[in-house]
Amino acid sequence: MPDVRFEHIVKRFGTLSVLEDLNLTVADGEFLVLLGPSGCGKTTLLNLLAGLLDVTGGRITIGDRDVTELDPSQRGLAMVFQSYALYPTKTVEGNLRFGLAAQKLDRAEIDRRVAWAAQLLQLERMMNRKPSQLSGGQRQRVAIGRALVKHAGVLLFDEPLSNLDAKLRTEMRLEIKKLHQSLHQTIVYVTHDQIEAMTMATRIAVMDQGVIQQIGTPDEIYERPANLFVARFIGSPAINTFDATLALEGERILARHAPTGIAIDLTRHAFGRRPEQGAPVVIGLRPEHFAVNGAVREDDAVRLSLPVRYSERTGSDATAFLEAGDQLVAIRIEPSLMAGLRIGDAMNASFPGEKLSVFDARSGLR
Ligand code: ATP
Repeated sequence: MPDVRFEHIVKRFGTLSVLEDLNLTVADGEFLVLLGPSGCGKTTLLNLLAGLLDVTGGRITIGDRDVTELDPSQRGLAMVFQSYALYPTKTVEGNLRFGLAAQKLDRAEIDRRVAWAAQLLQLERMMNRKPSQLSGGQRQRVAIGRALVKHAGVLLFDEPLSNLDAKLRTEMRLEIKKLHQSLHQTIVYVTHDQIEAMTMATRIAVMDQGVIQQIGTPDEIYERPANLFVARFIGSPAINTFDATLALEGERILARHAPTGIAIDLTRHAFGRRPEQGAPVVIGLRPEHFAVNGAVREDDAVRLSLPVRYSERTGSDATAFLEAGDQLVAIRIEPSLMAGLRIGDAMNASFPGEKLSVFDARSGLR
């Protein structure tokens, strides 16, 4: 499978600049997810790769071919759209076969590919149905099948699960992931849904305002966010952030959170550069890394005792929200603890130094 390179990409719509000097390489066989909020430019980037939009500047290569000026049909890509874009008058089989006739493949090869996709996506029993006789998930599987039969080097997905209900989305996520694991196809997948990105991607490129904020494995992005935007965009419940001020006291480095008086011990934290006295920082604490009650560790970097404001259970997880000045601290707890929680009672919690993130409050950088 070929790799995909975006080199110094610029895209403007009239005077609106959407992408300025964007560089990105999608490795061969990788499942790369472009993740970001609405309007960040991810669809524009995908459409530039697909050839549905022209670049204002820069170069796009697929394998060793410069495709920047090529027609979409000549780029060796297949695309799955949010809207499915099936032909309403054709059957499932007709939809799967349609693009292949145009590729001038012989009949036996078309039969073979269509049968392969139908089996892979479990469409065999509905080959004679029209799209209007299919559920949303089945339609999306046909749309994926139609892309797969092209045997394109690179598969593009534009928010393909947005129109499905939550349960189907979860199922299709798994199907697409399995598909990638068995076909090892290079995939570029656009979404604003962090769960989709976290569960399917081999690497995620997080975008905001036309700029790639961080690119890394789901683990790297989650555990070591490069900046506050990434930290806050990924994670549910969201990361807890505390505005604090650095205090250098002899050998010790503390981050003090004025509203609560909480002092976070950063003495053993590996700072990228020398910490300054009085520097404003933001401390990031993921809800699931807290220890509570009897499990609290005396030598953890953060120790707190705060009143419980409320708690909620979402299936296998539970979260307690503690009041810290004018903000809430979300702490993931064992669901079995919920029964014993009383609003207003203090909960003891601690957080290990190796799991916390420190950001420069001025630049937002880690
Ligand atoms: P969404 O998830 O909402 O689709 P996105 O991250 O994919 O968002 P894009 O669709 O790439 O964002 O849009 C990026 C910016 O470019 C937006 O400000 C959008 O308004 C603008 N834009 C996109 N297409 C055009 C166009 N054809 N003409 C003018 N502006 C456009």
